[in-house]
Amino acid sequence: MKSPLQCLIGGQWLGCADSFPVLDKFSRREACRVASASRTQVAQAVALARRAADAGPPPPVERARVLRDAARGVAGRRQAFVDLMATEAGFTRADAHGEIDRAIVTLGLCADEATRLTGDVVPFAASPGSHERIGFTLRFPVGVVCAITPFNAPLNTVLHKIAPAYAAGNAVVLKPSAFTPLTAALLGEVLLEAGMPPDFLAIVQGDGDTVGRWLLEENDIAFYTFTGSTRVGRIIQQAAGLRRTQMELGSIASTLVCATADLDRAAERIANASFRKAGQVCTSVQRLYVHRSVAADFAARLAARAERMRAGDPRDPAVTVGPLISEAAAVRAEQWVAEAAAGGARVLCGGRRDGAVVPPTVLTDVPAQAKTWCQEAFAPIVALRPFDTLEEAIGDANATPYGLSAGVFTTDVRECLYAARHLRFGTVQLNESSSARADVMPFGGVKDSGFGKEGPWHAMREMTEERLVVFNP
Ligand code: NAD
Repeated sequence: MKSPLQCLIGGQWLGCADSFPVLDKFSRREACRVASASRTQVAQAVALARRAADAGPPPPVERARVLRDAARGVAGRRQAFVDLMATEAGFTRADAHGEIDRAIVTLGLCADEATRLTGDVVPFAASPGSHERIGFTLRFPVGVVCAITPFNAPLNTVLHKIAPAYAAGNAVVLKPSAFTPLTAALLGEVLLEAGMPPDFLAIVQGDGDTVGRWLLEENDIAFYTFTGSTRVGRIIQQAAGLRRTQMELGSIASTLVCATADLDRAAERIANASFRKAGQVCTSVQRLYVHRSVAADFAARLAARAERMRAGDPRDPAVTVGPLISEAAAVRAEQWVAEAAAGGARVLCGGRRDGAVVPPTVLTDVPAQAKTWCQEAFAPIVALRPFDTLEEAIGDANATPYGLSAGVFTTDVRECLYAARHLRFGTVQLNESSSARADVMPFGGVKDSGFGKEGPWHAMREMTEERLVVFNP
């Protein structure tokens, strides 16, 4: 990729007066510079998208073809995507291949949905005096969708926004994270090669305080689809006013291990869910509630697995835990572990950083007021507390401001049903950790974790307007 990498506006890669560096997240050296869109270029990108949306999208079958060809295009550029994500996101090979596999599925699902976007028939017979009416709803694109995305899934989260938006007939203006702009740019190339009409996709690069804020000033944007922190979600929601939004925000994901659980299965799943992508996943297991009768046994099994995971250079095939997105994030994680230890927590493994690398860290006896327990960590740290009753554990898990995803390991069907009814999260995974997303799932949180659902069909419903048509006798 040539440096500085440019912004994509009207099908052209354009230079800009300003640029910013993208660091290799392991070596901390500059890997590339990226042109930062100007205020005028942001306005131009939105104006072109508005013009394209007003002129109307290509027919659904053609949109589906583009998305299918893009899936092949992503598969064909697999090694380039792996290399870019190793550099700018610090992803290990497994992290990067997992992201690419899922991106291909997301594109295929959105292609399928593009051709079956329908409304509903209204049961007029249920309204007295209306039984002779016939009515149904139709769905239309909202127009211009603005996608603002985080660093931790630089390909698949971007696609969970662009692909359903285009499948539904919208034009998209994307602002990827300034930590991970390169993967998004390669995806833009793939989508253009697949035949996405140039004015239906713009990529404006830059940081949130400038380019992000400018996008919030653009009245021609009809819909903001955002994934990122709750803090920024609040800013976007305030600016959006009466315009619609989809907010996929912060989280403290909890997983419960009950006395009847298969402990080996739970330890294997939780180790993966806590430490893949160095714990930088919104559903990563951060709070772990384990029944007191098995807590010591389970902690030992989990720590044994964590100690076998190598942390370090993501390009080393033996490494399964890469660096955090910045050294500052690693410093914060280390401080939080030290603070928990000073408050009485036991550090079973990990806890000491090397540059931006934090090894898998398992804590027990964590004080309830420790930051690793009460604030989003977004690091490879899992904190364990024992529980005596399911009611008590669920009450505690529900007591955070967040509610994205929770998991429960148990072989008791009554515990499954109780957890499904009482855990106040957007997803409750039974016999799984909180972090087991399939791309077809409706995915989204409650409370400060946001609202509106991702998932191809669900996102397309969010990104369309429904119109009722009634035939009167
Ligand atoms: P972030 O909120 O710092 O940034 C997200 C995006 O918002 C970036 O593109 C950033 O440049 C932009 N931005 C920042 N300030 C802005 C502003 N004032 N106006 C407009 N845009 C602005 O998030 P991050 O650090 O990139 O990602 C980590 C966060 O994302 C975590 O809180 C994590 O839980 C959350 N996340 C949530 C989900 C979910 O599905 N709920 C998924 C992944 C990540």
